[in-house]
Amino acid sequence: MSNTENKDMSWIGRFIGVMIVSLILAWAIGSMDLFEKTFIIQGKLSASHLVRFLGYGASLAALWMLGQRATIALQQQYTGRWSFIQHLILPVVTLIVVASVNSIALLILKPVMNTAMHNIYNWVFIVAILASCVWVVMAVLGQSASLTKVFTLIAERIDNAGMLKECAACNTSNESTAKFCKRCGKEFPEIAA
Ligand SMILES: [Zn+2]
Repeated sequence: MSNTENKDMSWIGRFIGVMIVSLILAWAIGSMDLFEKTFIIQGKLSASHLVRFLGYGASLAALWMLGQRATIALQQQYTGRWSFIQHLILPVVTLIVVASVNSIALLILKPVMNTAMHNIYNWVFIVAILASCVWVVMAVLGQSASLTKVFTLIAERIDNAGMLKECAACNTSNESTAKFCKRCGKEFPEIAA
């Protein structure tokens, strides 16, 4: 691997590092008595809730930015058979982030919301999650040409794996479509299709 490639990939490690450190800090500090027993709203919302909200939120923000950077990096560097994945990363990451934000925002919002507000809150996230799902499906549809290529290739591989033929001269297994033995080069008799 060249130097520039190493440099190009180092941001992945940085984002994952930020995610892990945020999660650990949020969990560790949030578990401290000082934070658990100091309240913003007495008996309902503690400093621990706030710290967890900020830490888990930062971690999700890093995940989303990672998805965004990965999409851009793949667009610039990769145009192969699996390139459709680049269009799926951001929708899938967004779906994960939206679903997680739902429970993380509840850390600080639950104590201040009444039942009616909580219901509205739920609906906002139901709509957001469904919209993300639609985005994932649209991304898959938009890439159906390259997806079809991948599935066709997988299907061919599976077919070939089940339909091997043996060379009469050297007993080597060859793919059913082979015209000559890959080991000894003997020609196979034509088979009816
Ligand atoms: Zn052979």
